[in-house]
Amino acid sequence: MYRKIERVLSPPDPSWVGNGFRTHNFFPSGYRISRMMSPFFLLDYNSKIEFNPSDKPRGVDVHPHKGFETVTIAYHGKIAHYDSAGNSGVIGKGGVQWMTAGSGLLHKEFHEEGFQRSGGLFQMVQLWVNLPAKYKSVEPRYQDIRHEDKGKVAIPGDGGTCFLIAGELNGVKGPAKTYTSMDMFDIHLKKGARFELPVKSGFNTGILVVEGNLKVNGDQKAPTDHFVFFRPDNSGDKILLEAPEDSVVLFLSGEPINEPIAQYGPFLMNTREELEEAIREFNTGKFGTLE
Ligand code: MN
Repeated sequence: MYRKIERVLSPPDPSWVGNGFRTHNFFPSGYRISRMMSPFFLLDYNSKIEFNPSDKPRGVDVHPHKGFETVTIAYHGKIAHYDSAGNSGVIGKGGVQWMTAGSGLLHKEFHEEGFQRSGGLFQMVQLWVNLPAKYKSVEPRYQDIRHEDKGKVAIPGDGGTCFLIAGELNGVKGPAKTYTSMDMFDIHLKKGARFELPVKSGFNTGILVVEGNLKVNGDQKAPTDHFVFFRPDNSGDKILLEAPEDSVVLFLSGEPINEPIAQYGPFLMNTREELEEAIREFNTGKFGTLE
């Protein structure tokens, strides 16, 4: 049985995050029952856009985070990251920045300077992965995952490759260290591919069509830049992806965190009191310094 589809969402109207990211927010604002994607709290998708060459930095200047992880995946263009825990990195095509804000930090996110000066095609995803209460105050951590670091599983019938960022498939593991159980796959399907993908019991599941077009579970069309929410139940233990043309898909599936959520801007906690504490910590410089 295939996991039933809840909804195929076309890209919500984009908005600018800083001056560097034009994003479609599929959840939590794009779809009102977004909690069905827990542990994934937020998905900002910068669909393909061509940037002109620029002398000015493009991105989001210093800002705080606490209580969760930001995961940035580059499909086109280059992104630079700096944080107050002393970590920094640049990712390009296929790269992933997995930043655990945990107990709280400051960071900034910009187009890499060379890319900003040359301009070019830009496409990326940012996910906010929630942390359960017992891990909300872990020390900040930064994982820089290059495309070649991902696990690789061949899609049957010379159908392409399923690259594993996090989680496990057919005994192969993705490199990302996570605090809760999840599968995050970067799936590259060749034209004509047919790929049956297992979905773990109880895991909330969705796919973003980054490139190409798909047919899902036999008859549902999922065009470029669309997000498919699967039902948050155990209506099936696998999904079927068919690619009438070369396609790229981001597969997200994770064990839900069944805890209260309190959010204020860049802080994601369990209670209002914890949010007030986070704001106090930020205002009194507890998250360190970053120029
Ligand atoms: Mn940020």
